[in-house]
Amino acid sequence: MSTTLLYQSFGIRGYRQTRIEFTGGVTRFHVEPSEKAVCCPMCGSRNVIRRGFKQREFRASPIGLKQTVVVAALPRVQCHDCRTIRQIKINFADTRRSYTKGWARYALQLTRSMTIKDVADLLGVTWNVIKEIKKKDLQRRFANPSLKDVRRIAIDEICIGKGHRYVTLVMDLDSGAIIFVGDDKSAASLAPFWKRLGRRRHRIEAVAMDMSSAYILAVRGNLPKADIVFDRFHVEKLMNEKLTTLRRQLFQKATEDEKSVLKGSRWLLLKNPENLRGDRDEEAHLAAALQLNEPLAKAYYLKEELRTFWGHTFRWPAHLFLRSWCKRAIATGLEPLKTMAKTLLRLEEGLLNYFEHRISSGPMEGTNNKIKTVQRQSYGIRDREYFELTLYSLHQTKYASVG
Ligand SMILES: [Zn+2]
Repeated sequence: MSTTLLYQSFGIRGYRQTRIEFTGGVTRFHVEPSEKAVCCPMCGSRNVIRRGFKQREFRASPIGLKQTVVVAALPRVQCHDCRTIRQIKINFADTRRSYTKGWARYALQLTRSMTIKDVADLLGVTWNVIKEIKKKDLQRRFANPSLKDVRRIAIDEICIGKGHRYVTLVMDLDSGAIIFVGDDKSAASLAPFWKRLGRRRHRIEAVAMDMSSAYILAVRGNLPKADIVFDRFHVEKLMNEKLTTLRRQLFQKATEDEKSVLKGSRWLLLKNPENLRGDRDEEAHLAAALQLNEPLAKAYYLKEELRTFWGHTFRWPAHLFLRSWCKRAIATGLEPLKTMAKTLLRLEEGLLNYFEHRISSGPMEGTNNKIKTVQRQSYGIRDREYFELTLYSLHQTKYASVG
């Protein structure tokens, strides 16, 4: 093999091949440094004499399906100029690693479309080796996300792993990037984020979050110029919960005949009407349940009406709508609806802020699915730093296979 091929295939420059060996399905290229590559690792002087050598093996990119190993004879040299005796520097591998830089690049390339486990199995190394390569790349590209141009953010918590561990995430809504990962889901989780923001906290204009959030006070205290926007997704979810509560209360009081109609109506009530399936008689079933039970029908139509809130063009008609909705919800006398209306009235400002900023945690919800895939593929989050880096990189990941 010529020195050119050694360089082109394995990224090894300044070495020549002495022999090739084929053993147990592995191709071993024995190489030694060319004369001019032998110099003092400390001062670079060529005024050196050799003092023996050490043989080291490095994995190199496979040729076809064959594993390839580069066996390098690395001389120790004594320097006449600075008087040290050391092994020459290697340029094609990290001294502490048993693979070439070319092999690491190859493995990294594979992780773009395969899971870490698949790559490790294919290349015959442990999961950890590939993870470390990937982690180093993520560190280089994503450690300390820039907060310079951040203006509009979403804050939400997600449950990770098994059990009830939570992390608090902050997303830059303009870039779609996750810019902070905090432990737990309390106001204190955000403290390191405020610190990193420093003076830039005055530039944050709006924050999307959920209504029951522990973060509200923390945001008010730390982002003086930001408007809080309660997120549409969470409001609708809360309304669905109220509807489910009401249905349960009604079910308990219902006669046997009514029960048979109410049974199985729970999901139909929560579905958006445009998603009801005619072929499964879902529309008919829902209509029967609504006809049978007046309170349920009232609540159902109020739920549907509430969804139109976000369709308003301007703040003031939306305000009138909200007031009217709450008034009618309270007038039903139904406890779950009354609670809902009171919550909305109390947090009115944050709901109406939507018409200033038009943001929601929607992009965050989309990211949650990707995060679930990450968790499956990285076997939970054994390495906290790696997990965090992966989250910072999500917005640039086309495929979900990022573990
Ligand atoms: Zn020297």
